[in-house]
Amino acid sequence: KYKDIVNTNVIVKNIMKNYIKNGYRVLDCTVGNGNDTVILAELVGESGKVYGFDIQDIALERTKEKLIGFNLYDRVNLIKDSHENIIKYISEGLDFIIYNLGYLPRGDKSIKTNETSTIKSLKQALKLINKNGLILLTVYTGHEGGNSEKDAIESLLISLNQKEFNALKFDFINQINNPPMLYAIEKSN
Ligand code: SAM
Repeated sequence: KYKDIVNTNVIVKNIMKNYIKNGYRVLDCTVGNGNDTVILAELVGESGKVYGFDIQDIALERTKEKLIGFNLYDRVNLIKDSHENIIKYISEGLDFIIYNLGYLPRGDKSIKTNETSTIKSLKQALKLINKNGLILLTVYTGHEGGNSEKDAIESLLISLNQKEFNALKFDFINQINNPPMLYAIEKSN
């Protein structure tokens, strides 16, 4: 049981647990330390598949180690490339896609997601996502470049046709120090 429900990490976990079913095809666009990838691998079950991208060896190594520890590595395809190239590796429709933007916790803070590659990636994600599929993005604005990345994402999401997508923003309205924002996009048609 979670103590705080109004927390982006907890909301993301709860949505994943409620939404992802056995056999789902899912994508983690920023595997980082592998926390989300492990949850995804567990939820899709043996018949499911997880694709995971990161540009840093250290992130992929940490994630691989965690997956092996939980005996979940066999259903995961870890790819060392920018998520702006997901379409080069994935040709099937996806049921769920997650982004946790910014830099690697316990890593080099200068290596971080950026507006250009994130938007390229998100446009591909919007094409790959299946009908009734879901995309979650956690966005941080406390670091340099974070605000313009957030603005670019929001402009793209605002422009989506409401007949095709439902785009929702979760935003803290009383917290100091740049709290994270969470966007959820559901393909409805
Ligand atoms: N969700 C992860 C977890 O559970 O540990 C944390 C992700 S961390 C906040 C962001 C990650 O995005 C970093 O590991 C960073 O290397 C990665 N990243 C930065 N630019 C990227 C890009 N263009 N493509 C893929 N990953 C990228």
